[in-house]
Amino acid sequence: MAIVDTNDELLQERVCEIVASAVPKLAECGLNLMSPVAISFSNKLDHSSGVHFGIYHLGKNRIELLDPKTFEQAFRRSETWTAVPLAEHFEAVVVHEFAHALVDQNAAIQRACIADDEYIAYAMQIESLSESTRSVLLAEVGASPPTSTQEINSLVLGFSPADFAVRSWLHFAEPENGCAFVEKIIQGEVTFFFLPE
Ligand SMILES: [Zn+2]
Repeated sequence: MAIVDTNDELLQERVCEIVASAVPKLAECGLNLMSPVAISFSNKLDHSSGVHFGIYHLGKNRIELLDPKTFEQAFRRSETWTAVPLAEHFEAVVVHEFAHALVDQNAAIQRACIADDEYIAYAMQIESLSESTRSVLLAEVGASPPTSTQEINSLVLGFSPADFAVRSWLHFAEPENGCAFVEKIIQGEVTFFFLPE
């Protein structure tokens, strides 16, 4: 499933367990594991903006995560994510990045809109949290349903990833959306790109 590149056996075991429990849930949304994903750790992620806990290298089946120590430092500095317990946030970030990898492996089309990919990754990330943690996070962000598709766009994503994450999940959690909506994105039937803001 995943090739976890670290000498830390406990960390390796932990990441493998997170992936193993995420894979069937992601498959329910049409995100099937087609080939193994490499996961490595770094104390610095090369990213253009904002705080990032992990990064997926598009087309490379490769995920880089902040190593646990740096991860914790970034977590402590974050304004919103501290509403989630550290260990649970780490697990949810693994799910987020793994979802990116599977979108890449399953998408029928080349995705032009970053919000499409992030919608799926954040919906899966927030979905993976426990219900009690999720309600604390929702209260922290101050978001409540219903969420219209106009509220999910790259501006919000750039301005406040946590806001974008929660809005994406609230939209995903609506009975008429869910995995069916994720599959529509993967098939290129819907996009957040053309929607008016
Ligand atoms: Zn992402």
